[in-house]
Amino acid sequence: MTAIDSNEVRQMFCAVSRRMIDMEPYLTEIDNRVGDGDHGIGMKIGFLQVEKVLSAGRYDTVNQVFREIGYTLLKVMGGASGVLFGTMFVSGLVGMEEKKQFTMEDFACLFQKSAEALTRRGKAGIGDKTMMDALIPAAGAMKEALDLPLEEGFQKVAKAAEAGMEYTKECVAAFGRARYYKDKAKGFQDAGATSVYLIFQTMADWIVG
Ligand code: ADP
Ligand code: MG
Ligand code: MG
Repeated sequence: MTAIDSNEVRQMFCAVSRRMIDMEPYLTEIDNRVGDGDHGIGMKIGFLQVEKVLSAGRYDTVNQVFREIGYTLLKVMGGASGVLFGTMFVSGLVGMEEKKQFTMEDFACLFQKSAEALTRRGKAGIGDKTMMDALIPAAGAMKEALDLPLEEGFQKVAKAAEAGMEYTKECVAAFGRARYYKDKAKGFQDAGATSVYLIFQTMADWIVG
């Protein structure tokens, strides 16, 4: 397929929510190693509410679905990552016209802008061992995939996010709690980057069907 409508995006993010909820123990374990162990619970709280709201919701445009996800995460998650993951979903919408369907180009535009907004806000770049190590390459892969069907495109996006997540194992954290671990964090992947990977992998899985 080359485009996905608002109801499909709603269903896709119900699947993403379920995945994030189910991965709570895994994310907790990862954040326990190099953080303070609350990332899994935070994401679970956020996506339980996203799942609830999206299950009952009807949306005219894809933008509305993203707005709903982002503001729900901002509202219920709290903490640093509530702001970061909320921002990931809403900040790319600024200045974008309302669309009933999204193409690869729309996703590329949205996540490119949100990666830029998050960089401005959190000041983290590639190699700082954060979610940005997965998000920046994933957004880049979308731009490379403009001419591909969504199935193929999102598989490349998920692969790019996965490689970014793997790369965080080599990095020393510059932000968040993990920075106190310094070299001890080497060999362990970042929790936020893992969440970004899981989000894009589940989007790819849903699209491929
Ligand atoms: P907290 O750090 O408040 O305990 P979480 O554990 O939920 O919050 O989230 C931690 C994740 O947030 C990290 O794994 C990292 O990916 C991400 N993160 C932390 N600080 C930043 C930042 N300045 N910019 C981007 N991402 C960040
Ligand atoms: Mg934490
Ligand atoms: Mg914390």
